[in-house]
Amino acid sequence: MAIESTGTDILPSYLRDRWWTPDAGAAGIPVLDASTGEVVTRVSTDGIDLAGALEYARTVGQASLGALTFHQRALLLKEFAIALTARKEELHELSKRAGATVRDSLNDVDGGIGVLFTYASKGRRELPNAQVYLDGPVESLAKDGSFLGRHVYTRLPGVAVQINAFNFPMWGALEKFAPAFLAGVPSVVKPATPTAYIAEAWVRILVETGRLPAGSLQLVSGAVPGLFDHLGLGDLVGFTGSASTASRLRQQAAPGVRFTSETDSINASVLGPDAVPGTPEFDAYLTQLLIELTTKAGQKCTAIRRAIVPEAVVQPLVEALRDKIAQRVVVGDPHAEGVTMGPLVSLAQRDEVLRAVAALEAAGGRVVLGTTAAPDVVRADGSTGPAPEGAFVAPLVIGFEGDAAALPDAVHDIEAFGPVASVLAYRTVDEAADLVGRGGGSLVTSVATADPAVAATLLARTAAFNGRLLFLDRDDARTSTGHGAPVPHLVHGGPGRAGGGEELGGIRAVLHHMQRTAVQGSPAMLTALTGVWHQGAASRSDRHPFRKSLAELRIGDQFASPLRAVTLDDIETFAHFTGDLFYAHMDEQAAAANPFFPGRVAHGYLLVSWAAGLFVDPAPGPVLANYGLEDLRFVTPVSPGDEVRVVLTAKQITPRETDEYGEVRWDAVLLNQRDEIVATYDVLTLVAKTWDEGPAGGAASRTAEAAVTP
Ligand code: NAP
Repeated sequence: MAIESTGTDILPSYLRDRWWTPDAGAAGIPVLDASTGEVVTRVSTDGIDLAGALEYARTVGQASLGALTFHQRALLLKEFAIALTARKEELHELSKRAGATVRDSLNDVDGGIGVLFTYASKGRRELPNAQVYLDGPVESLAKDGSFLGRHVYTRLPGVAVQINAFNFPMWGALEKFAPAFLAGVPSVVKPATPTAYIAEAWVRILVETGRLPAGSLQLVSGAVPGLFDHLGLGDLVGFTGSASTASRLRQQAAPGVRFTSETDSINASVLGPDAVPGTPEFDAYLTQLLIELTTKAGQKCTAIRRAIVPEAVVQPLVEALRDKIAQRVVVGDPHAEGVTMGPLVSLAQRDEVLRAVAALEAAGGRVVLGTTAAPDVVRADGSTGPAPEGAFVAPLVIGFEGDAAALPDAVHDIEAFGPVASVLAYRTVDEAADLVGRGGGSLVTSVATADPAVAATLLARTAAFNGRLLFLDRDDARTSTGHGAPVPHLVHGGPGRAGGGEELGGIRAVLHHMQRTAVQGSPAMLTALTGVWHQGAASRSDRHPFRKSLAELRIGDQFASPLRAVTLDDIETFAHFTGDLFYAHMDEQAAAANPFFPGRVAHGYLLVSWAAGLFVDPAPGPVLANYGLEDLRFVTPVSPGDEVRVVLTAKQITPRETDEYGEVRWDAVLLNQRDEIVATYDVLTLVAKTWDEGPAGGAASRTAEAAVTP
């Protein structure tokens, strides 16, 4: 079924796993088509039981998400991404009503789907198939190892309220929903009124999958009166929007409510002194400036607001940009063929942008490219002419003359949230850095330069003012994801005016929805609490653990080998076989002169190889592959005449949700004949979930091995 605009009906909310609309009679705020001014829908939450919805999230939502592991939630995110992908053309079509061209929707719709896919994959690669996340190493707090401490993340017990800006109704919402869901915290999404119908559409698609855990996602299509009265410790608010709304709302949040904001920022883009016209860096800068000015008609929190350019290059840059705009930019209704830039989201937004431009002019700026007059545009039927009902603004560049230091604060302060950028001239790289900093904290600054010294100066001088820095040169110009595109892997958020956040992007966004607690206890207690075996906890040595499939293997299952003698002959054989003739193994005098060795010693890699020979059980069995070692440390040197043994203990078992095997991490400790620790490390293996030791076992083994070979 196609997603259709909802006519003039009130846009539904999705509360307590049901669609909800106010009682008949609610007038609702009309939301208009950005190009034509037709009513798309009406928005109202008159009579909403917000407290009930929040409580539903804290009870039903928490329970259903709490029954799942990180990996199970990650797989659901993948299902949601697939469902949205199947219907993304419908979402593109709907987004046109808000002024988004198909290219704009690649950022919002496809970008949002990309966020889900990224978290689906990161969740399974970087988080355990469990419900708690361990942070950092174990701290031994008693000499005999009987008292340990470590940091444990558990999910917050409340609800994540996500208040979103109008410009990215999908991507902006999904970049918050995905990490909350992965953490196991239910979401209440509150889209901005002008694009709430696009948020309603993606939520509807997720609901229609039938795979949303009960209470895990609710949608409030409209105002949230009294919201903050109902929030307390354990709840989160993730706000995206203007700095002024953020500061108003922040004051309403009770102590204990985690309030974070991603707000507007006056982002900068610096053209390096080396990037003169004719260089690939100049071309890359120009292309990027055009993209940032016109994508989403400049309604991007990350858009370039200040182009910081060497004094001598200002004029050539503006001229080159003028040519590019003439060649490439067609302003009009996104439904019309060939349109490359749509209107702003609403007439109110257009008026606000024009007011901001007037304020920049009043502060000394001069429009050097474009005009504030309403442009002629391409209408949906292909005709060209004025469109007074549409919120169209042509691309505008405002020039500021005079000393960089004397530029008015307004240029660093006023956000014209549309296709508007200022051009500021600089004379030295330090001056450029000062200008970047005067933005008071930004989401992103980009720098086009091929000169590492320029880049290093700007990194040192401006990184503290930015959430993200992009260095653009001839090598990455084609592959760069661009100035204005946050990626779900990396920090999105910036200091100061940008909201002070950096909690979005990567697994840190998941952890933001969890509480880190220092947990202290005995090895046995920490093992029981975390599902990870700790040195000193009970172990079991019944059968060789390599003979156990995941169905039988338990953490603490252990194998302890007998001692093996170390001879000089062995060391020489290994040295000549591998070519590792390092003097510490081959030259008694030189080795003894080294501060670490008593004389010739065994190679560390020889010891690790011996350890494998000592612990391995060679017959085909449930252990399918060794895929690496982690945290390998050589502690005590081993001399000819010494003996070594290994103790191998199942430390962590991570069954895969979608495969017939899982990862087993083994704690390996190599000891000498005096029980001194020689080396410690983790061995990483893939182990079958089940294993038939009968005659068919071999065949099963071969099939499973084939399955894991990349
Ligand atoms: P906005 O006017 O500040 O509104 C943002 C959100 O806050 C909307 O959902 C709005 O809902 C809601 N809101 C307003 N008053 C509220 C209240 N009293 N209680 C609860 N929610 C309330 O911003 P916008 O016009 O939608 O977005 C444009 C701004 O967002 C720009 O300044 C842009 O730079 C910034 N932005 C920042 C980022 C970032 O990641 N840093 C991303 C995108 C946009 P209603 O619409 O229903 O009033």
